[in-house]
Amino acid sequence: MGITIDTDGSVEVRIPRWVTYAEAEMFVMERRDWIVKSRRKMLEKKARHDSRDWDRVKAETDPWICGDGGRLLRKKVADWAEKLGVGYNRITIRDTSTRWGSCSGKKNLSFSWKIFVMPEHLADYLIVHELTHLRYMNHSAEFWNMVRTYIPDCKTIKKEFEEYV
Ligand SMILES: [Zn+2]
Repeated sequence: MGITIDTDGSVEVRIPRWVTYAEAEMFVMERRDWIVKSRRKMLEKKARHDSRDWDRVKAETDPWICGDGGRLLRKKVADWAEKLGVGYNRITIRDTSTRWGSCSGKKNLSFSWKIFVMPEHLADYLIVHELTHLRYMNHSAEFWNMVRTYIPDCKTIKKEFEEYV
């Protein structure tokens, strides 16, 4: 059985065919606190997101991304890559807001445009996270060890990240 909470606050419970309704009800009741808490978090996140006019922020940030901002980001990524001792091919900035960053098997990195507006320590974490994927294409213990070497408080930052929209 599984429970998912959507961004609009709706709760979905997936029940296998062989589970009775009473069992499913029990399953949900046992997780009631978690559901309520997660649902509240999700709705708060959505409210924060909606309260910012991201289209306007994006329009204002675009010229910066094409100019000095883009250059600064490339420099920042290059500096981190040197520190981590990894090499990459290309950096792409994406319009997406749903994915912060990604790293392809061809060693191409991509970042959401929001990397230009987020606090610096979040941006650094994001860069180190994606660069570390050049070494480990997973989220294994080794992966996190490497991230932690360069971003010691990565655990706290990761949490902060989840709340940043
Ligand atoms: Zn990752």
